Parts: sequence; C-alpha cells; structure tokens
Amino acid sequence: MPSTNTAVNRHSIAQRAQLTQESQIREASRYCDQFGAINLAQGLPDFPAPEALKQAAVEAILADHNQYCDPWGLADLRQGIAQKMAREQNVVVDPDREVTVCCGATEGLNLALLSLIDPGDRVLVFEPFYENYLPNLITCGGIPEFFLLEPPHWQIDENILQQVFRKGIKAVILNSPANPTGKVWRYEELEVLARYCQKYDAYVITDEIYEYIIYEGKHISMLSVPGMRERTIVVGGFSKTFCVTGWRLGYTIACATLTTAMRKLHDFLTICAPAPLQIAALTALQFSPDYFTNLGKEYRHKRDLLFPALAEIGLKPVLPQGAYYIWAETSAIAPDGDQAARYLAEQARIAAVPGKCFANPDRSVVPYIRFCFAKKESTLIAAIHNLLQLKENGDTPLL
Ligand code: PMP
Repeated sequence: MPSTNTAVNRHSIAQRAQLTQESQIREASRYCDQFGAINLAQGLPDFPAPEALKQAAVEAILADHNQYCDPWGLADLRQGIAQKMAREQNVVVDPDREVTVCCGATEGLNLALLSLIDPGDRVLVFEPFYENYLPNLITCGGIPEFFLLEPPHWQIDENILQQVFRKGIKAVILNSPANPTGKVWRYEELEVLARYCQKYDAYVITDEIYEYIIYEGKHISMLSVPGMRERTIVVGGFSKTFCVTGWRLGYTIACATLTTAMRKLHDFLTICAPAPLQIAALTALQFSPDYFTNLGKEYRHKRDLLFPALAEIGLKPVLPQGAYYIWAETSAIAPDGDQAARYLAEQARIAAVPGKCFANPDRSVVPYIRFCFAKKESTLIAAIHNLLQLKENGDTPLL
C-alpha cells in the first residue's frame, strides 16, 4: 500500500530540495524510451569498459576488498594520481595531504563548493555550463554569476570579467575541456583568469574530468598556472577516461588546508569511494600511453562522423575541441532548443538535450541542443541515418 502520510507536504521540504530541479538530461533519456529514440542525450558510453579493468574489479571483490577503506582513498591510488599530476602538469602534490579519492567528480565538485562557499557567496559560472553546477550551488547557498561565452571561440572579454569580479567573487567554476561546448581553455586565457582571482582573492574549482578527450590544443590544469597553487581545487575522475561512469570514482587535488576541509566533509558524506574499484583503478593508471592516444583518436573519429550530419539537416554545430559533445544551434529547425529536441525525438527518433539545461535559468529561449557522441560507431551510424532520413522526407521544421 502506498503511504498516505499527509504530514509531509511541500512546506516540509527544505528550500535546497525545493529549489533543485530534476535533471533534464535524465529526463531526455526518459523520453528516449517513450519515442524509442537513439539516446544521444546522456553523457554515457554504450560500449564496454576495458577488459583489464573489469577483470581487476572482479579480482578485487573476490579477494575480499569489500569493506570501508581509508576515507582519503587508497594510498597507492593517491600516489598514482599525484604522479600523474607531476608527469603531465609539472606540479608536485603530496598524495598524503593533497589528494582525496571520492565518489566521482560529482562528489568532488560538491566537496569543493561546500568547503569554500557559504550561503550568499558569489560563484562565477561560464555559460553554457554543465548542468550539475547549479544544483550544487543551491546545496551550499552559493549565488551563480553567469558569464556568457559565445560560439564558436568562447572567448572571454576582459572588460566583462572585470565587472563580474568587482561584484565580489569567492570562487570560479572552470571546466576544461568543457561540457557542453567542447572548449579547451588556452594557457593565455587561464592566465587572465588567474590574474583576476589573485587580484580579487578568489578560488578556482576546475573540473578536469575530460582531460584526456582532446582534439585541439592541450589540457592545461589551472593548478599549474603561477600563483594558483593555493587557490585551485582540481576535480578529476575515472568515469570518462576509462569508460566507467557507473563506478563512481573521482578525486580532488588541492593544497593541504583546502584538502583538510574537504576530507572532513567527505568522511561524513560518503566515508569512502568504493574500495574494490579503487584497487581496480590502479590498473587503469598503469595503462600504456597508447591507451590515452587512442582514446582521443577514437572520439575524434566519432565526432567527425556525427558533425557533418548535424550540419546537413540545417543545425549549426560548433566543432568541439575536447570532451564528447556537440553543441548545435537550432534556429533553422526550431526557435528554441526544447522544441528542436522534441522534434528530433518524435520525427528522427534521436534524443538530444535542450540547451536550457546548460543555461542561466532566467533565459526563456535557448536555441541550442547538445548531442553526445560517446557511442558505438553502429549507434552513431543509425542516428545519422535517422537524421538524414528526415531531410530526405522533406519534413517541415517547426518554423
Ligand atoms: N563534470 C562534467 C563536466 C561532466 O560532464 C560529468 C559527467 N557528465 C561529471 C563532472 C561527473 O563525473 P563523475 O561521473 O566522475 O561524477
């Protein structure tokens, strides 16, 4: 029997939960089922994780690594993460005091914000942005200060940046390579941002989950920019690089003072990340350089398959420099991303995410949609077929 408890009503629910909207990305996956559509909405691969990783996880479970482990994360894993930072970004970090393993970058972002942001603190968010940042800010009471970046170059205008910082910014959320735009921040851009953070005493929370999925330029961590060592929290993870989004393995890297704050919260939020999977992740850190080169190559191939088909049906896609999404302008199909997404789901049986999901909620119209291409080649080919069919049938766009 369903509960008939009437004591719980809307007013019983805390503000932070009332203000938090349900994820529109998962909503897109739901209407994917409704229309039998191919899911190019949610950012999860439909191909298998590397065999060696799966084997390592099975072995760790069979070897009975099934209990709580060190809340900070397995010592060897923290060390591996620190070595990677030294090797790739030339930044030496102490695995015992500055690296914390947590439940996905998702937990890492929350830890970073909860450690730095008090209710009413302002946080700079570059728009379009990854949908989690807003609910994460609601949880800690932070106020987003949106900074709109325009396609195709997503350049920062220093005059606007200065105006935003003058309002008083406690932290900046940076995401490079970025979801949904694919922007890879260049060193000169990071330097500009770093200069303002130092001048106005602000911190950077840098979401680097797509660090190895890059087509143009190279990944530079804000942690490596002069003056930012004590002002930066790196949030990273294993989900995207190793195709294990369901493992929930991520980490933070920050100076000891920030790390101590985050570790206390982490301990009481989740205790530790999954113990056997941390052991399996050690195998991932030992993958040969070829693995990482191929990752980039394979995703580039997928990007280059889907991109022209989107242009062919009249969308204006922006070529991503990194990550595994394509952001496309919809005005030739529909004036708003919501309508375009529904049209594609109904007529082409393709699910994509409406642009509103990544935009300042005050905007009533966002003429963009996001496609995810972390899919098997056969899935992409089927999707392209459906899209091109739309054109052949001469279906009338919603204009
Ligand atoms: N940051 C960005 C930019 C993402 O796109 C995602 C996943 N879609 C995450 C963080 C979440 O990563 P994780 O699976 O490690 O929690």
